[in-house]
Amino acid sequence: MTVSIVVPLYNEEENVDILHERLREALEQMGLEYEILYVDDGSTDTTLSKLEAIQLKDKRVVVLSLRRNFGQTAAFAAGFDFARGDIVVTMDGDLQNDPKDIPKMLELIKDYDLVSGWRKKRKDPFFTRRVPSILANWVISKVTGVKLHDYGCSLKAYRRDVIKNLKLYGEMHRFIPAVASWYGVRVAEVETTHYPRLRGKSKYGLSRTVKVILDLITVKFLQSFSTKPLQFFGPIGLFSGAMGFLISLYLSIEKIFIGKPIGGRPLLLLGVLLIIVGIQLIGMGLLGEMLVRVYHESQRKPIYVIKKVIGPEIK
Ligand code: UDP
Ligand code: MG
Repeated sequence: MTVSIVVPLYNEEENVDILHERLREALEQMGLEYEILYVDDGSTDTTLSKLEAIQLKDKRVVVLSLRRNFGQTAAFAAGFDFARGDIVVTMDGDLQNDPKDIPKMLELIKDYDLVSGWRKKRKDPFFTRRVPSILANWVISKVTGVKLHDYGCSLKAYRRDVIKNLKLYGEMHRFIPAVASWYGVRVAEVETTHYPRLRGKSKYGLSRTVKVILDLITVKFLQSFSTKPLQFFGPIGLFSGAMGFLISLYLSIEKIFIGKPIGGRPLLLLGVLLIIVGIQLIGMGLLGEMLVRVYHESQRKPIYVIKKVIGPEIK
């Protein structure tokens, strides 16, 4: 078993040296074949030069330097693309995760495809970080149906094929377990140690919660309806259109048969609005259907995921 460790770093100059020391120590003890990929996410401090110095001394280190700050998800994605190990482990570069947790994750991954850390005793500010995170974890587990206590923990272990089939966008890295488990990947959760950030600044605050919620909507929509958008927009559109039609019909009967003026009635406005909204929604669904076909067919992207093919080799 070979292991790749992926660590995104953005302005962590005070942490890199200690991080590498601890990581190396923990990995040496396991007696594994490993590589460490440090992804410098466009740091503006001396993080990159420190990483280069580490790389000079340690040939098991690969440094990926991104041109600018693309964000943690993109940094993970870069690490995933270059990782060569059978197992890929991700963790934060700010010493909040403990490399000593890696062995138990590697033990579990023998029976699972993805092992996610759970910062049971999380050492982050209470109101700005832990409260939103408790709420977010609750909502995510309800919406995605994948029950984890802690989606946001960076310390995770993946089998290679899990991440190689994955496309990451936005702030999506926390949704990998959810997305992966829809693909049929077996997900486990394990308690991990968490430390307060001692050096350097956290890159996130309360505003992250909004991004997470928006990403959750995307993930849920793509999961449920990405191959059938009309099934999502259609029913609402049909309902709206039908209501509008009934209202308009009622008004028309009043106008034609009873001769009441209907020009100034609010109900008229509602009827017309509902019809227009209905047409729009169905049109959007149909547009979505076209997009889905373009998306899948232009990239020859199948709508299924194969675990393995058993039988004679197929070309
Ligand atoms: N990070 C990154 N790019 C960013 C923001 C953060 O690579 O744009 C890295 C950061 O250097 C750290 C990890 O992602 O190694 C987690 O960031 P942070 O500690 O700020 O997040 P928190 O622990 O507060 O959630
Ligand atoms: Mg941190």
